[in-house]
Amino acid sequence: MIPYPTVEAASVALGRNLTWFEMVWFNYSATKSHFYVYCHTILLLFLVFSLAPFPLVVMELTGWFNQYKIQPKVKYSFSDMFRCYKDVMKLFTLVVGTLQIVSYPSIQMIGIRSGLPLPSCLEMVAQIVVYFLIEDYSNYWIHRLLHCKWGYEKIHRIHHEYTSPIGYASPYAHWAEILILGIPTFLGPVIAPGHILTYWLWIALRQIEAIETHSGYDFPWTLTKYIPFYGGAEYHDYHHHVGGQSQSNFASVFTYCDYIYGTDKGYRIYKKLHHHQSRLKSKLTRREE
Ligand SMILES: [Zn+2]
Ligand SMILES: [Zn+2]
Repeated sequence: MIPYPTVEAASVALGRNLTWFEMVWFNYSATKSHFYVYCHTILLLFLVFSLAPFPLVVMELTGWFNQYKIQPKVKYSFSDMFRCYKDVMKLFTLVVGTLQIVSYPSIQMIGIRSGLPLPSCLEMVAQIVVYFLIEDYSNYWIHRLLHCKWGYEKIHRIHHEYTSPIGYASPYAHWAEILILGIPTFLGPVIAPGHILTYWLWIALRQIEAIETHSGYDFPWTLTKYIPFYGGAEYHDYHHHVGGQSQSNFASVFTYCDYIYGTDKGYRIYKKLHHHQSRLKSKLTRREE
C-alpha cells in the first residue's frame, strides 16, 4: 500500500518526479495491501526454484556439457530429477509457504517497506552483500552443528542422500533443516532491513546461488568465479561426495570460514592429489604421442 492517492501526490511528497521503475511500482502496488505484496515472495520462490535448475536438466539428459560434470559417472534420468522436484515442491508448499505467511508480523516488525521511494542500486547491492556475509557465517556454524552424530542421523542425512548433487536437490532436506536454515537467510534482512524489492532480489539470488553450488557442473566461464573467496559447485560437491563423514567444506557461499576454522583440509589434500594425477596423465599422453 502506497500512502499517496496519485503519482502527482507521490512526486510532491518526494520532492521530485518518480523514476520509470517507481511509476511501474506505483501502478502495480498502490492499491494492494502490504501483506498481499509480501505474499508474492512465495510465488517468487516457486518460480525461481522451478525455472533456474531447468537448463541443468536438459544438460543432464543430453550430455551436452559432460566434460564439465564434476562426477561424470553419475547419471540421473528424467524421472529421478522429477521425483526430486516433486518432493521439494511438496516441502515448499507445506513448510516454506506456511512459514512465509506466519512470519508476516516479523516482516512488519523489522520494517521491510514496500512503498516509495524505491531503493537505489547502491543501497540494494550493499544490503545484499551484507546479507550474503551474514548468511554464510551463520549457515557455516549451523551446518557444522548438523554434522554432529545426532544432527546428522535425525535431520541432515536427508540432504546428503544426493552424493552427487543436482540443481533441484539444493533445498532437498528434512523439513526441520528447511526451517533451521531459514534463520541465516532471514538474519540479514533483520539486521539491515530494506525495501521488499531488495528482499526479493536477495531471496532469488540466494536460491540461484544454492542451485549453482548443487548443479553438479563446474563451468569455467561462470561469472561467480570472479567473486573473491566464492566456493562454487566443485567446493560444495566435494562435501556431498564425501557424505556423512565429511568434516570439510561446511560454508554455503564463501571459502574463508572453512579456511579460518580449519575445515577445508580434506578438500585441499584432495585438490592437490587431483592436480598431481591430471599432470601425470597429461605427461603419459604426451609420451605415447
Ligand atoms: Zn552437510
Ligand atoms: Zn548441499
